[in-house]
Amino acid sequence: MTRAAAAGKGPPPTTAPTGRVAPTSGPRARRARSIEVGIGVSNRHVHLSDKDARALFGGALTVGRTISQPGQFAAAETVVVEGPKGKLEGVRVVGPVRSETQVEISLTDARRLGLDVPIAASGSLAASVGGVTLRGSAGTVRLERGVIVASRHLHLSADDARAWGLASGDLLDVRCGAGSRAVTFHGVLVRAGASNATELHLDADEANAAAVRTGDRATILAWKSVGAKARRLVTERDVIELARRGESVPSGALLTPSALDRARALGLRPS
Ligand SMILES: [Zn+2]
Repeated sequence: MTRAAAAGKGPPPTTAPTGRVAPTSGPRARRARSIEVGIGVSNRHVHLSDKDARALFGGALTVGRTISQPGQFAAAETVVVEGPKGKLEGVRVVGPVRSETQVEISLTDARRLGLDVPIAASGSLAASVGGVTLRGSAGTVRLERGVIVASRHLHLSADDARAWGLASGDLLDVRCGAGSRAVTFHGVLVRAGASNATELHLDADEANAAAVRTGDRATILAWKSVGAKARRLVTERDVIELARRGESVPSGALLTPSALDRARALGLRPS
């Protein structure tokens, strides 16, 4: 339950399938609320082309279990990823097959392999590197490219994207964790659409930095629309200062959860 709802203020919150939205209190409130989403920690994994899957395993992938994103599955198969300096064993294959093989690892994994691996959005392989060998139960594949550290991203269902006014390519600031390990991640890439279930994907390094695990909640603090200027983030301190000056909250501003509570308590409305 959101803090404001817990305090019994405002109308009941809009409940989305997988995300939770703070109560709204007027036409401008759409821009001045906090949104919570679930966290999914992506361990290192490999997507394979059909050709590479057959070379590695002698046949098609076997469905192990379904995972959170619609249509995807963790295959029963795993590979060994070998780099110039070290290797990663038991790396899960995620199906179905794709047009091109992609290896998603953390920066810690990259160091273990002895590779300088760029951070890139999944599917953007132009910037990726090769230099690894995949070893399966039936053969090996040498990759000339396809190894990335995946950009942190938020999968959004079409419904949640519409409800929250977010679109693919938007960049978010998202707070994860609590207490002395709380971390705000910047530049979280939105991936919205029918093939997405709402979930924040972090890699193992990011999750460990914030001491969070799959199923924990994260709070969206601010966002920047594609091609738009960053919206001003208003903190509780800003709200107090605005109230002192007799001003209202700037139109289109994003309020932190505590700023939102304070603005409500002070009766401040966006201009
Ligand atoms: Zn993802």
